[in-house]
Amino acid sequence: MHVAGKKVLVTGGSRGIGRAIALGLARAGADVITCYRTESEAVASLVAELKEIPGDHQVIRADVTNADDVAALIDECRLRFTRLDAIVNNAGVISHIPFAQLEIDEWRRVVDSNLTAAARIVQAALPLLGEGSSVVNVGSRVAAVGIPLRAHYTAAKSGLVGLSRSLAKELGPRGIRINVVAPGPIQTEAETPPAVLERYKTMIPLGRLGRTDEIASVVQFLVSDQASFINGETINVDGGI
Ligand code: NDP
Repeated sequence: MHVAGKKVLVTGGSRGIGRAIALGLARAGADVITCYRTESEAVASLVAELKEIPGDHQVIRADVTNADDVAALIDECRLRFTRLDAIVNNAGVISHIPFAQLEIDEWRRVVDSNLTAAARIVQAALPLLGEGSSVVNVGSRVAAVGIPLRAHYTAAKSGLVGLSRSLAKELGPRGIRINVVAPGPIQTEAETPPAVLERYKTMIPLGRLGRTDEIASVVQFLVSDQASFINGETINVDGGI
């Protein structure tokens, strides 16, 4: 996939799927700015790994739910890259709460992180986007299906699909593509309880959880010029669940 020389912003690159996306794009020759919220060993190791990969890479602390942080993040993209060929809105949070006990603050935290942040980032970055730019929003397969205890999360991820469909129509005439990648259950550094793992294995026809690189490769395709006619689409990456 041709992404060499592309200037890319990936949110939430310190762990999990975002880390695989950021490192995969950098290894494929893109220049990558990525962000995280919390200082951790994972951030230090990401900085070290990116240093070993040729290209202009930067890891920045920026909370995507904070307007000032987003403004500073996009400023850094402008100063360093002058343009953005791609944005990957990957940062997100989840919680499992019965709807009856779901507090409005928790609703807002999850919707802000998974949906509003993506809208805010694309809006702030509009002057940097142009003909050939690609926005990839990381949604979730479960948004289209529904699942107990995650009404807030699935509402936010479904909103991401609506946002992407409308922006595809509004920004398409400027040559900007917007798509969603909707992962099924993916194995990250986070512990998956054995019982949950077993349940997933029976639910997923391929009999296993997905790997982070299996999401990263699809994101990389959508960033690449080989996906130049794909716009407003949601690609499920879920082992056939
Ligand atoms: P992780 O929790 O493993 O990693 C999330 C990353 O996003 C971390 O780097 C985290 O940094 C960062 N992040 C979270 N909130 C913010 C914020 N407000 N500002 C900046 N960075 C932030 O998540 P996953 O890798 O599991 O998930 C990545 C995406 O994929 C999410 O959008 C998720 O909803 C989606 N997804 C994941 C699935 C899975 O099975 N794992 C399935 C379907 C969808 P920090 O350490 O600072 O919090």
